[in-house]
Amino acid sequence: MNIYSKLFIGGEWRSPSSNEACSVINPATEEVIGKIPLGAAADVEQAVIAATEAFPLWSGLAPQERASYLQKIHTELVARSTDVAKLITAEMGIPLKLSQRIQVGLPVAVLDSYIRLLETYEFTEKIGSSVVHKEPIGVVAAITPWNFPLHQLMIKVAAALAAGCTIIVKPSELAPLNAFLLAEIIEKCELPPGVFNLVSGHGAVVGEALASHPKIDMVSFTGSTQAGKRVTILGAESVKRVSLELGGKSAAVILDDADLAVAVKSTVNNAFLNSGQTCSALTRMLVPESLYQDAATIAIEVARGFVPGNPTEAQTRIGPLISAEQRQRVCKYIQSGIEEGAELLIGGIDKPDNQPHGYYVQPTILGRVTPQMKVAREEIFGPVLSILTYQDEEEAIRIANDSSYGLSGAVWSASSDRAEKIALKMRTGQIDINGGRFNVLAPFGGYRQSGNGRELGIYGLEEFLELKSLQF
Ligand code: NAD
Repeated sequence: MNIYSKLFIGGEWRSPSSNEACSVINPATEEVIGKIPLGAAADVEQAVIAATEAFPLWSGLAPQERASYLQKIHTELVARSTDVAKLITAEMGIPLKLSQRIQVGLPVAVLDSYIRLLETYEFTEKIGSSVVHKEPIGVVAAITPWNFPLHQLMIKVAAALAAGCTIIVKPSELAPLNAFLLAEIIEKCELPPGVFNLVSGHGAVVGEALASHPKIDMVSFTGSTQAGKRVTILGAESVKRVSLELGGKSAAVILDDADLAVAVKSTVNNAFLNSGQTCSALTRMLVPESLYQDAATIAIEVARGFVPGNPTEAQTRIGPLISAEQRQRVCKYIQSGIEEGAELLIGGIDKPDNQPHGYYVQPTILGRVTPQMKVAREEIFGPVLSILTYQDEEEAIRIANDSSYGLSGAVWSASSDRAEKIALKMRTGQIDINGGRFNVLAPFGGYRQSGNGRELGIYGLEEFLELKSLQF
């Protein structure tokens, strides 16, 4: 059992202003595995004071000095990586093998990328008669979700601290334990007090207190579009910078000359990764009408390989969803797809037979989905893939772009030139061509209601910088 009763503020563990706490549930067993304090506005106030006081010292350090602190965190995180992977599996249900590779491997790689970037990044630039100084924006609040909890936290912490900002983090109340572990690591690495602060609690309380606090210069938010809109409205009062990484409904466009088996397999794997709880998931598979039957047959076969199981067992490829509410929400979407006329190719709303406990949903594929159906338009955030068909390239592009989101996408073709031409017409932030791999140096973020701003690499660093021009 992981019991935390204090918040990490100003370099020390402090008692919160109230005794309220919330339990952390293992979604595979439905057992309580931890407790965290529920902070309030008074705790946010304390954290803002600490982060404000720490800012002059931290922002005044040479980039190399900041990098050496980040290196210490990196070393400690790598040393504890097995424990971190197990913890994240326990709190949000991802299979342990994937937890090691993604939930821990990714934040380690992201942190490393910022340590490397500080070796070369120029914080000043000469333009004509001016020198442009790139200065840290100030005190940053990071509000994060539960689906890739440490990765989403680390993207913000590494980039903000590298830029010279101080930070207050508010992790999701559903999977917060990894953030407490990160705070322990940071305490051990003896960062100057107040550079990193952790205030856990509900979004409506701690999240809103952060978003509306006049002395916080920037909020970096990852989560649902609905909460992102609320954060933007609250932040506007003090004209703070708000960067948003929100939801998605991304399309994989499979062209008629693509290797169909490879393309379909990759899309199904992508859609079911992390039980479909991935903002960039390719949840709409677009295939030429003439290839629908073949694509559906291959997709069903691939889906059979995803048997919901205990996430701690080595052979498990798909675990539960995060919560009972989420399970219910996802099942409603499956039901609505069927009611609107989609073909249920595999899966459905019944609990998997082999899992008496836990928030499991059967990996589900809906065929003959049309662009107007709810399942084609709204983010489901569960293991549900929709197959849509198109007549020609123009229609494929039109369907792919017919979304209020624009986070991710994929194009498959025997010709990478042809795929690239299609990709350039898609209004979305990231597009994988023929299975191109995730790159921690490439900008990540969305068009339209998928967000504002970009994370990762140099682009992610610059989100936390202000520009100051000196004319000579
Ligand atoms: P959520 O919006 O419910 O919660 C995210 C965070 O925001 C949590 O810490 C929560 O406590 C906080 N929050 C909630 N309401 C708030 C409010 N009114 N004010 C301030 N903070 C508030 O989202 P979730 O269920 O944790 O995560 C799933 C969503 O996140 C999905 O929509 C997914 O697409 C999105 N997501 C996006 C990305 C991305 O990079 N674009 C990555 C992961 C998840």
